[in-house]
Amino acid sequence: MTVRIGVIGCGAIGFEHIKRITNTLSGAKVVAVNDINEEHAKKIVADLGLDAKFYADGHELVKASDVDAILVTCWGPAHKEFVLDGVEHGKYVFCEKPLATTADDCLEIVNAEVKQNKHLVQVGFMRRFDEGYVALKKAIDEGEIGTPLMLHAAHRNPVVDDKYTTDMAISDTMIHEIDVLHWLLNDEYVSAQVLYPRRTKRALKDLADPQIVLVETKKGVRIDVEIFVNCEYGYDIKCEVVGEDGIAYLPEPATVQTRKSASLNRPILMDWKQRFIKAYDHELQAFINNINQGKKLNGPTSWDGYAAALTSDVCIKAQQNPGKIMPINMKERPSFYK
Ligand code: NAP
Repeated sequence: MTVRIGVIGCGAIGFEHIKRITNTLSGAKVVAVNDINEEHAKKIVADLGLDAKFYADGHELVKASDVDAILVTCWGPAHKEFVLDGVEHGKYVFCEKPLATTADDCLEIVNAEVKQNKHLVQVGFMRRFDEGYVALKKAIDEGEIGTPLMLHAAHRNPVVDDKYTTDMAISDTMIHEIDVLHWLLNDEYVSAQVLYPRRTKRALKDLADPQIVLVETKKGVRIDVEIFVNCEYGYDIKCEVVGEDGIAYLPEPATVQTRKSASLNRPILMDWKQRFIKAYDHELQAFINNINQGKKLNGPTSWDGYAAALTSDVCIKAQQNPGKIMPINMKERPSFYK
């Protein structure tokens, strides 16, 4: 079977996903597109030679009988309406993060999915499909380092533009750690605290950079995440899990090491897209394969979208109250998601 996909939002990531479905992945094709910018969407269809219909109204695309699954890749504030519509029409939905912009809106999607009694939604937290994180999780789950006690993580980015604000360090940057770390530890977050170290000279006046976010989990693991978005030297993602019996590290991306002129060198990637390019392929291929094989979706769920939104909101409140420990009061996870 070929999964017939409709894409809502043909901007940067929407275009990348259309290209990978068309050129790299198997088992699916893009049959419909929608974007506020009609000309742009139609140009993508023409440039890639797609046999895809343009819908001026995304809700008409959701309803189309020849669309099996939708990709929601428009801007965040519009995600909820299309995801809900998709779920209510019994369509599979792959939604880029965020699932919705508030935790309450995410819960509405959770409730709609539970009502359908079918796993229909996968959220685009692609790190769960990164080979390094998968290997790290396997080591933890198989007990190689014993019980996890602490986790040290860093999210470093070379530079951000002047539209990047302090809260985006959480909602746009650390959001990926928020999702992947509790998955890694099979745990939930209970509190968050933000500390501001000395500020880099490279940050614009109104941006607090770097930041440290301290999170505690239900099982008592202490997590520290450094977010440093003007570090200049590269796009560098670190994760070290300290267990009772040993320490496990997120593998470095495979780059060539050279010995030359009395020094040992390995390049560091500069671009986040490059760092996780395979993970984007794997997450969408898994979505397609599971639909084709009638299996339960195995990526981040609506519930994970809710957990990420709630945790992100609390971390942003913690930013506004530096040093204060803020509770994360998660609702009880429905058995549907256990
Ligand atoms: P983008 O380049 O601005 O693309 C969004 C597209 O959606 C634009 O073409 C926009 O049109 C269109 N759009 C906005 N509102 C719409 C609506 N109501 N109906 C239909 N189309 C609409 O943004 P992007 O970088 O692709 O990001 C899109 C989403 O993906 C965001 O939620 C972002 O957080 C997420 N994302 C995730 C990752 C990841 O690592 N997983 C990476 C990048 C982005 P106009 O330009 O005319 O407004």
